[in-house]
Amino acid sequence: MKLAVYATKPYDRRCLEAANAAFGHELVFLEPRLDGDTVSLAEGFPAVCVFVNDRLDRAVLARLAAGGTRYVALRCAGFNNVDLVAAGELGLSVVRVPAYSPHAVAEFTIGLLLALDRRIPRAWMRVRENNFALEGLIGRNLHGRTVGVVGTGRIGALVARTLRAGFGCEVLASDMVTDPALEAIGVRYVPREELLTTSEIVTLHCPLTPETRHLIDARMIAAARPGLLVVNTSRGALIDTRALIDGLKSRKVGGVALDVYEQEADLFFEDLSSEIIEDDDFQRLLTFPNVLVTGHQAFLTEEALDNIATTTLQNLADAQAGRPLVNAVTAEAVIRPAGRH
Ligand code: NAD
Repeated sequence: MKLAVYATKPYDRRCLEAANAAFGHELVFLEPRLDGDTVSLAEGFPAVCVFVNDRLDRAVLARLAAGGTRYVALRCAGFNNVDLVAAGELGLSVVRVPAYSPHAVAEFTIGLLLALDRRIPRAWMRVRENNFALEGLIGRNLHGRTVGVVGTGRIGALVARTLRAGFGCEVLASDMVTDPALEAIGVRYVPREELLTTSEIVTLHCPLTPETRHLIDARMIAAARPGLLVVNTSRGALIDTRALIDGLKSRKVGGVALDVYEQEADLFFEDLSSEIIEDDDFQRLLTFPNVLVTGHQAFLTEEALDNIATTTLQNLADAQAGRPLVNAVTAEAVIRPAGRH
């Protein structure tokens, strides 16, 4: 199938080309993101391949459909950037990579938490300047601390398991589907309000939906335990950034580690080191000594990239052959999610 691959980075190209040896699709690599300005590049392509910050709103989808596109292949798990209702109405099939490597994201989450809590980036900056003083680097043991995991799907379950079985944390979880295997090792499911007000650390692993948008907001921060640590490797808009900044300024929030950011589409995945950043909220976040930000790299392992490439190309091979699209995502499935456990 002829495929316009938007937002291509060198590592995407390498992995897709290697995996395509087994499929023989015609891949056309495009550097820009898919949005209203770039959608014309896809004219005549039966399929487009996109990533987390491409914008597939109704207008873009309508132009894709009018140009002959029938398949949208997300090379990621999340699909909050696609108007699925519009896609369905326009006859576009949307496929994704539901689980390319939950381990990649879970391991990175634990890494971020440890780096934040034990001040590892600050320590490294000091050592590079031959400053071996320890004042200001005091952390806390993870063992015995209460950690709330919001969303215990593929990634959240691994994080919860590692924190409980590996570090000996008290782990609270919130999800509409409970995982008996986690309960068996002592993870306790509680209502989300209770999790957010009881935990010393909260880590977010639910998808971004209208219901979870700004799950961490001013009200929640006011009700949280003083010194709360927040880790977000899921989607930026789960957190109200302004409320988070206020929480950091008032010292109610004790530290934040983010791999995702509400307005990341204007920043992440590009080298902007010679540019003026106009996002004042983002720049303010970077000024706090207890904030750690990475640019949406939790997924970035060799294993994950290989799986993303293979599953994406397999999804399109299935579409071409008229086989069932096992990784299709539709508005109906999102509104009424199937039970997992
Ligand atoms: P998953 O679908 O396996 O799990 C999501 C879980 O969240 C499910 O168990 C679901 O029931 C639960 N959930 C849904 N709404 C909820 C709510 N309101 N409250 C509590 N739980 C809720 O997904 P996953 O593979 O574990 O991925 C989780 C998220 O991680 C994705 O949605 C994606 O946004 C993000 N992600 C980020 C990266 C990265 O590189 N930073 C990579 C992959 C995925």
